[in-house]
Order: sequence, then structure tokens, then C-alpha cells
Amino acid sequence: MDIKKRVEQEVPEIIKNLRTLVSYPSVESEPLEGMPFGKANADALAAALKILDGYGFKTKNVDNYAGFAEIGSGEKLIGMVGHLDVVPVTDGWTSDPFTLTERDGNLYGRGSTDDKGPVCCAMAALRIVHELRPDMNKRIRLVMGCNEESGSACLAHYVEKEGHFDLGFTPDGNFPGVFGEKGICQGHLETPTNAILSVEGGTAMNVVCGKVTMTVRKGTFDLGKFRIALNARNVRYEIEDGDPIKLTVYGLQAHASLPDMGVNAINETFAALDEAGLDDPAVRFIARYFGNTCHGERLGIDFEDAYGDLSLNLGVIKKVGDKIHVTVDIRYPVTKDPEQMKREYYNATKDDEDGEMFIEDFEEPLFFPPDSPLVSSLYKAYKDVTGDTVNRPMVIGGGTYAKGIHNTIAFGAEFPDDPDIHMHGDDEFIPIKNLARQTEIYVHALLNLLDL
Ligand SMILES: [Zn+2]
Repeated sequence: MDIKKRVEQEVPEIIKNLRTLVSYPSVESEPLEGMPFGKANADALAAALKILDGYGFKTKNVDNYAGFAEIGSGEKLIGMVGHLDVVPVTDGWTSDPFTLTERDGNLYGRGSTDDKGPVCCAMAALRIVHELRPDMNKRIRLVMGCNEESGSACLAHYVEKEGHFDLGFTPDGNFPGVFGEKGICQGHLETPTNAILSVEGGTAMNVVCGKVTMTVRKGTFDLGKFRIALNARNVRYEIEDGDPIKLTVYGLQAHASLPDMGVNAINETFAALDEAGLDDPAVRFIARYFGNTCHGERLGIDFEDAYGDLSLNLGVIKKVGDKIHVTVDIRYPVTKDPEQMKREYYNATKDDEDGEMFIEDFEEPLFFPPDSPLVSSLYKAYKDVTGDTVNRPMVIGGGTYAKGIHNTIAFGAEFPDDPDIHMHGDDEFIPIKNLARQTEIYVHALLNLLDL
């Protein structure tokens, strides 16, 4: 069989299936009896399983948390795991987000790239491999979860009921594959304040804080020095000089795992207040341990390995009683020992009277050596189909399904040469050309894994 040709024939079917799946507004909602993530998510899963039933595959709905289709027979299980839920939409869309719409060679719709399109490509790959290897001696499963965007309880439930993969990938990250995902350490700091009467800023823990507004008792710091400090760093601000003084400091939002891409309004504000002589526990604490850094330098946790460094982001700031709370989001290197990471995080500010740091969520890193059989056979499939030998498998600061199921890495869906596909934003789309090349890569990837 000419795989490339066979994939081309399948593209209209992929688009038809994607149109069906996109029509369900599968944003997690109130649970209903037997529908832990709401009706739309259960309906989207039923629709996906119906498509796979239609191909003659064995299917199973795992309590509306997830569902899967399986081909082949044998002990070993190769898995693909994607998700059918999507993030909410806002009103900035050019066309209806739940009607797949073609414009300029792209298909627009919520979930088109994240992750319904890739799931449809995986369906097609399963179908084609089934034709190519009717007598395969391993099983291949396509698992589809229903709340990846809001906590991945779907995958935890699936693993509890159905177990792990022997080898697998999730089409919910980047080509040519993600062999490492940094560990995540999320928590907050608490520090008392006398001079700061009110403060708020930031939209989410995992976003670099883009704006801080604050009122400060008059006469507690040198306004001229405050201005000089911010001007020197090209930071935009507004000052209303009354009693109290009202400050607004502007940063630039970016993802928490790439803090250097943004400007953090919390760091800038407190570093400038420190330079302006504001003698306050909160200012001392935040300036001392964070200052204008975003890799943990001041905490002495600026770890780094061959695959990347630690990133640290202050996301949301608010006042609770007479204390200031700030969220802390750390992505630590893939080879760092998790227990040691935790210890050094707590030790960094231990015995400091000006404040305290806490952890609420802690995840170990994911790491497969780049030359491991899993990573190299997936990368080979990518190279063979695209001819791209420049881009290499990578490490990301994020967290995908791969952390929730054994022997699995993220592989696709985004290509290095993709334009900004507005993942999680307005007008999310998938370039139509991605459907064929992604499916073809997955066919070869599955064949390579079958031969391991
Ligand atoms: Zn996703």
C-alpha cells in the first residue's frame, strides 16, 4: 500500500469527523448522573465512539470519563491518548466556534488543533494500520479523555480501570516529540504588610502578571526613586499622588513556563518599592527572594541541566487580612530529584521572619532519554514523513497527559513550521495540510512501535 496516497484518500473522512466532534461544546460543566463532566462532554465521547464502532473496532466507554477503541490482539498494548474536551470560548470569534469553518486553507473551530483534530487523525491512523497489519500481534488503543483541560481526572480514572500503556504517545503537544516535561511546583508566599493598604494583580497562576494596582500609605517611600527605578527598566506605570498613593504598574503577560518572554508587574513593583526605600516586611521579602529574577536565583534554586533551567513565575497577588499572598509557579529541570527540589524550596526562606512559602501542587518531571526506543522511533516517523532533520525532540515546561500514564510522550500535534494556531484563544484553527501529514506520521509511528 502507498501510505501517502491512502492517507490522502482519508482526508475528507477526517474533516467530516472533525466537523462532528467540533459541533459539541464540550467545555466541562456541572456533573450529571453518569456524566462526570456534563452532558456535552459525554455526547462528544458518544459521537467519537460511534465513529470508531462504524469502522468495526472494539470500543468501550469508561464511565464517561474516557473511552477507547482497540485493534489487534496480544499482550503488549500500544496507546494513543487524546482529549475531547475543550477550553471555554469568548466572544472574539469571527465564526461560530462550534461550527467547523474553512477559510484560507485552515479549519476554524474550538478544539480543531487542541485536541479534536489530532484525535481524528489518530482515528484515521488506526484505521489505516488496521488495513496494513490485519494480523498484528500487539494491541493498539486510541483512548479519548473528557477533562484534560480541567484537571485530567479522566485519565486518572481510565488508568485506574484499564491500566497503563506499554508504549504510547499523546497527540497533544509538539512535533517532533517531547521527551521531557519539567516538574511542576505550585504554591504561594505569604508576607505581612503595614504600608500597603490594598493590592491586586494577575489573572492566573500560570501567566506572568501583566498589571498590579496598589495603594500605599503616603510618606512611606521616595516617589522620585520609585519613578527612576521603573524608568530605568522601561516599565510603564501610573501614579496618583494622594493619600494613600495609588500605583498602577504594567507588565507583559506570557506563559509561566517562559517567564523571560514577559515582564512581571509584581517583580517590577516590589523591586522598585525596595529601591525607593519602602521599609515593609512584604517589600523586603519579595525583593529579597525574587527581585527582578525569574529562575529562582535569589532563592538559590536556579537549577539547570542539559535539557533546560528552572523557571519561576509570580502570577496572582492579593491582600488577605493584613498579609499579602502571591502565587508561585515553578517548572524545575527534568533530571532534578523531586524530593530534593521540595526540600530546597522550603529551606530557601526557612527562618525568615518576613514571610513564608507553601506548596499546593507538586508534580514530578517526565523524562525519557532522547535515544530511548520510544523517543527515537517516534522521531524517525516524523523525519521520514516530513524530511525535517533540523528540529529535534524537545523538553517543555508544561504538563501533558504523558505525565498521567506510563511509557508515553507527547508527539504532535503542533508542527515547528505552524503559524500561531490560537490554541486556547479566539479563532483557533488547524491548517488543512496538517491533517494528512499528521495522520501519515502517526501511521508510521504506530508501525515503528509495532516493530519494536
Ligand atoms: Zn490539549
